[in-house]
Amino acid sequence: MNINSDISRCPLCGGEKAPGKTTLTVELGYGLVVIRDVPAKVCVLCGADWIDDVVAAEVEKIVEESRKKQTQMEVISLKAS
Ligand SMILES: [Zn+2]
Repeated sequence: MNINSDISRCPLCGGEKAPGKTTLTVELGYGLVVIRDVPAKVCVLCGADWIDDVVAAEVEKIVEESRKKQTQMEVISLKAS
């Protein structure tokens, strides 16, 4: 019952969250977008990940682009520019 009492801890297992990277897979219905190297906080114990709002917005933009192109399968690396 300690939800959000300590944001540096994983709410699932209580493990420590460490800065890392994750891979997001977004299903578009007709296709798939895989976004690699997404900056995230990753739980060292269970591997659950969290991404910032800023990063989420960035991802949303990429997904929107792929949607327009009607890509069937795209793998994008999200590198900080
Ligand atoms: Zn965890």
